[in-house]
Amino acid sequence: MKLTILGSGTCIPSLKRQAPGYVVKIGKDLILLDSGEGTKRRLMEVGIHPNSIDYILYTHTHVDHVAELPALLWGYMYDTQPRKKDLVIVGPKGFKRFFRQIIKLFSPLFYKRSKFKTSIKEISNSKIKGNGWRILSKPMCKQGNTFLPHSVAYRLETKRKSLVYAGDMRYDYPKSLIKLAYNTELLLIESAVPNQRQVPDHLTPSRAGEIATLANVKKLILTHFYPPCEKYDIKKQAQKTYKGPIVLAKDLMRIEI
Ligand SMILES: [Zn+2]
Repeated sequence: MKLTILGSGTCIPSLKRQAPGYVVKIGKDLILLDSGEGTKRRLMEVGIHPNSIDYILYTHTHVDHVAELPALLWGYMYDTQPRKKDLVIVGPKGFKRFFRQIIKLFSPLFYKRSKFKTSIKEISNSKIKGNGWRILSKPMCKQGNTFLPHSVAYRLETKRKSLVYAGDMRYDYPKSLIKLAYNTELLLIESAVPNQRQVPDHLTPSRAGEIATLANVKKLILTHFYPPCEKYDIKKQAQKTYKGPIVLAKDLMRIEI
């Protein structure tokens, strides 16, 4: 299993960090996790054509996590070598409706023009089986509205390895995250603000470290950094609560799991 960080930042413009996007390779399958703006360019930079993505998993529908979805769909239709292989797009509760709205607004001809089958799945507390791997999920919030949409975290696992990815988390995260991430090789989780700037709708490095310790994860990767993070020692803040290896995500970083 290989993880590549496409975007370790947010929607705040930055030449260093693009909006959230990650790609995982398991065997021959390519799984994209979220697709903030800049995802297509970053995919090309790491040698992956967007047409070769098999699954796209969305944690929630905040714009910094989904902005490139309409552009991906447009490219799939009008590329000089149009996409041919089937695509599965997965999201939390409400995602099917969200996808229909995207199609209506941006690509009303998508189903007519595309030369492949697109399956849209909503997932909350369920599994998806792949070729020698599976995806497990848990809901990360109870209610869903415009400001706080439904969200899920994902566990991608083979017989030997696993990776857990959580998008935006509330500071008072649900216990289901510990359960989902328990004993995983790698926890990829947001740590959007430094300890000094704690807010209800994001994790701090120390809070992310606490989750990693409670879930007994082997390695922690922190990501989704807002600009104030650059002014603080984020790793040190996470080390206060987690004693295992910690990596601060950078765009284009590759990690073997
Ligand atoms: Zn976010």
